[in-house]
Amino acid sequence: MQVPFVNLGAQFQAVESELVAEFVRLGRSGQFILGEEVEKFERQLAQYCDTRYAVTVANGTDALILVMKALNIGPGDEVITVPNSFIASAGAISVVGAKPVFVDVGDDYNLDPAKLEAAITPFTKAVVPVHLTGNPADIDAIAKVIGERDIVIIEDAAQAIGATYRGKKVGSLGLAGGFSLHPLKNLSLLGDAGFISTDDESLYLALKQLRNHGLENRDHSIQWSVNSRLDTIQAAFGNVKLAHLPEWTERFRAIAARYTEKLAPLVSCPKVRTEDAAVFHNYVIRVPERDALMAYLKEQGVDTKIHYPIPLHLMEAARPLGYKRGDFPETEKQAKEIMSLPIYPELTDNQVDYVCQKITAFYQKAGG
Ligand SMILES: *Cc1c(COP(=O)(O)O)cnc(C)c1O
Repeated sequence: MQVPFVNLGAQFQAVESELVAEFVRLGRSGQFILGEEVEKFERQLAQYCDTRYAVTVANGTDALILVMKALNIGPGDEVITVPNSFIASAGAISVVGAKPVFVDVGDDYNLDPAKLEAAITPFTKAVVPVHLTGNPADIDAIAKVIGERDIVIIEDAAQAIGATYRGKKVGSLGLAGGFSLHPLKNLSLLGDAGFISTDDESLYLALKQLRNHGLENRDHSIQWSVNSRLDTIQAAFGNVKLAHLPEWTERFRAIAARYTEKLAPLVSCPKVRTEDAAVFHNYVIRVPERDALMAYLKEQGVDTKIHYPIPLHLMEAARPLGYKRGDFPETEKQAKEIMSLPIYPELTDNQVDYVCQKITAFYQKAGG
């Protein structure tokens, strides 16, 4: 049996006829950027995230960049995030001219609130917790550390659409949430795309301008900015796919539960607080013999990946920040022990069971 790590073709086929109909309809309409379909998508996204507003942008990285730009976060400012994330979490902070400051993660792979206070300075303007793998970061604990200080929380919810923290949707927990709709994310379009969720009206209005050259109307810009608009056709695809997201999310959860049931005796499985509901963008296990297990599974036809093999503070791009190996011991240790198993709605129970059988076989072999 072959178990690929992703299967984007199968995801397309699951809704192919609906997408083709939208392609023809939008093509004939002649509307290719923004417009009614994008507005409808934004209303539906806001509803899904339990926020008043959503603003679509060109990708999830821009979602974070534009929120910080709207808040005038820039040179001289510090923004806190985690070293165990995708590059964009830190890259977005650097791109607006601010300084990324890292805080180590806990054994849920998310920002460890106990280590936050030590990283806050008079220059800190925002904390960007990442809901890594679709498992919500402990926002209440983070907010408690921040206390009365003038520091906003911007959620990096790129991997977490639909997840809930203490019954509340991610993206509605801080001032704003940045989401990615990249083909590999839980809600994916057929190209790059992203959005911001927020309840804040002035932020919403600023973002609508900032994604479109700072234009307040057709001819007049009030602040230099970028072009980060969503294609109309992508919004139409998004409206089709968003209707399926609840059932796909249930499938992600069912696969995760199946993995946990079979693997918990053998390996360290994801830790989700009982009051929260994760969406398992990735299913990460942690084992000391990670490289040997990955190689064995590869031989057996099972593809696995590492999210992420190089902590952000150890990347060449981070060199000017002055961090060194040893600064974030938990992240560094995890980077050597974590691996992600295949998880996507089209994965069959048979494939999941096959992966579990092979992991079990690996430990039987190792045990004698
Ligand atoms: C994917 C991702 C992003 C960036 O999204 P893009 O759409 O690829 O720009 C940001 N943060 C995290 C944690 C991500 O996984």
